[in-house]
Amino acid sequence: MVYAESNPNNGTNGMEGSQIVEKKKLVVLGSGWAGTSFLKNIDSSLYNVQVVSPRNYFAFTPLLPSVTCGTVEPRSIIEPIRNIVKKKKGEIRFSEAECIKIDAANNKVHCRSNHDINVEGKEEFLLDYDYLFIALGAQANTFNTPGVMEHCHFLKEIEDARRIRRSVIDCFERASLPNLSEDEKRVILHFVVVGGGPTGVEFAAELHDFICEDLVKLYPSLHKLVKITVIQSGDHILNMFDSRISSFAEQKFQRDGVEVKTGYRVVNVSDKYITMKSKANQETSSLPYGMIVWSTGIGTRPVVMDFMKQIGQTDRRVLATNEWLRVEGCDNVYALGDCATINQRKIMEDISDIFKVADKDNSGTLTVQEIQNIIDDIRVRYPQVEVYLKRKHLRNVMDLLQGSLESAQGKTKELHIEEFKAAFEHVDSQMKSLPATAQVAAQQGVYLARCFNCMHDCEVEPEGPLRMKGSGRHRFRPFEYKHFGQFAPLGGEQTAAELPGDWISIGHSTQWLWYSVYASKQVSWRTRVLVMFDWTKRFTFGRDSSRL
Ligand code: FAD
Repeated sequence: MVYAESNPNNGTNGMEGSQIVEKKKLVVLGSGWAGTSFLKNIDSSLYNVQVVSPRNYFAFTPLLPSVTCGTVEPRSIIEPIRNIVKKKKGEIRFSEAECIKIDAANNKVHCRSNHDINVEGKEEFLLDYDYLFIALGAQANTFNTPGVMEHCHFLKEIEDARRIRRSVIDCFERASLPNLSEDEKRVILHFVVVGGGPTGVEFAAELHDFICEDLVKLYPSLHKLVKITVIQSGDHILNMFDSRISSFAEQKFQRDGVEVKTGYRVVNVSDKYITMKSKANQETSSLPYGMIVWSTGIGTRPVVMDFMKQIGQTDRRVLATNEWLRVEGCDNVYALGDCATINQRKIMEDISDIFKVADKDNSGTLTVQEIQNIIDDIRVRYPQVEVYLKRKHLRNVMDLLQGSLESAQGKTKELHIEEFKAAFEHVDSQMKSLPATAQVAAQQGVYLARCFNCMHDCEVEPEGPLRMKGSGRHRFRPFEYKHFGQFAPLGGEQTAAELPGDWISIGHSTQWLWYSVYASKQVSWRTRVLVMFDWTKRFTFGRDSSRL
């Protein structure tokens, strides 16, 4: 089989003969975790691949908090996309531009370059595709809180981290000016972090280390005036982690003098004050601040929102896909990473279909063995169910199923079905979308690339595993997420980690595990060496406090 470039005029490459197969056009939107892992794994000799992203590099986001305080340098955690794609067999084209509209009806994406090309109209262009991969990530979510866009820093991109680093030093230099009162200095040196999730907590910890290990030596008179406050709307910080980790983090912050205000929702930010409302008594209070970092979760990008409107997914926060990561309602559009989620409701509908067809012999009752088979079947076909059952707050769901299994004996079939439905409705109500993490995004990129790499073989031999519902057969196994655990660096060379198998590890040794995992996960040897060099430099000379 020979693959050839497609000819836009006649749809063939102009050569006679059935051996020539036109290469399909793949357009990938985004150069983040999902997009890059797709690019690294796709066999680009089989397809015409075109990437569109407003940034021509991949950023290793887990180390962004370290960039905010100069623990690592920004250029150490980015890798040019062109470096990544030049290692591929076939050509991958890259355009530094933004996708402004997805036109799924006509298989086109509208793009705009941010470069000043100096020729009117040339900054916008159209790309057509056979398959589209939406890996656009997400943007910071302000929950429409007034003043946040104007007065707060975010921590999503490299530029954000650089701005925060400048701003921290700026606060210390301003507070060192001779004509300020002590109270004025206190306000300037009040650093507020909104959001007690992993990013907010890690930033607060990094900032505390930066101040205590480096800045205190350079600005000794200011040390006592510095304050860090973390505002969290929930009852605990790091509440997506095991409770042992969140209480360890809270105690550590208390010892370090980092104030944690839980149960408060920020309602307004002005140029001088941050105003919040207590969830307990609805009272509002205002705090003067020097700098705020807003880290309260992620929201939908406008281009994704517009696409969701086009395809009737208006009631959702992110694009809904099936378990094969195909956008619901679009045959040739896939979505991965933070901008997408697998539609669990669909899975639940399929599961309830299993119950309907379970009584094959039409006896009116289901044996215990039949019920057990149903459970096993569901687990094999829907690995996500298994993944969610592993999470600590869902451990009881399996017990519930087993319980209904035992109580099902001797009852009528209808009762069994109702009981199982009830159990799975419970799973459904507890089932959350996959977490918006680099781990999920990267695994989805690898999964889709592998599916597309063997697409040709599957076309020759289309009989794959039977899908549960409908007439179609699916060529690939559904996407299965493997959770490898997660870290929460807490400063002072201590890290907490939730490891596979529900292992919890906290302390200095976990910090060394963190160093080794993050060094090994770097996208290239170049960034790996740079990051390790930065860590060594910081241990030896401390962090650089110049305001560049
Ligand atoms: P992204 O990586 O955000 O990539 C989106 C891409 O789309 C970017 O290249 C962007 O430039 C591009 N893009 C945006 N708009 C357009 C447009 N209009 N047209 C074309 N391209 C566009 N996860 C973990 O698992 N572990 C961690 O320790 C961790 N730490 C984190 C720390 C921080 C500070 C942050 C912000 C995130 C962290 N995450 C972590 C989460 C992780 O970064 C995200 O889940 C991951 O980046 C999602 O990958 P993605 O490819 O969907 O999106």
